[in-house]
Amino acid sequence: MTKPDKTTDDATARDKAEAPTGSCPICKRAPEAAYRPFCSKRCANVDLSRWLSGNYVIPGDEPADTWDEDTPTPPQYEH
Ligand SMILES: [Zn+2]
Repeated sequence: MTKPDKTTDDATARDKAEAPTGSCPICKRAPEAAYRPFCSKRCANVDLSRWLSGNYVIPGDEPADTWDEDTPTPPQYEH
């Protein structure tokens, strides 16, 4: 009288659905299907402008609170 363990399968499938392909390379948020791998059109444009300009510069309109989540902090002088 043994039943197949469906809970394991269900949990695995749901886990994959919630984390499809990592996170947005710009702000580390969950990517939107329409803009993958980015979370929004703005982040896609940010990445595009980086490539076009040839250097990695954070635009001024990027929210400051997204900087210190997973991104290494920029070099700072300590006193
Ligand atoms: Zn983003």
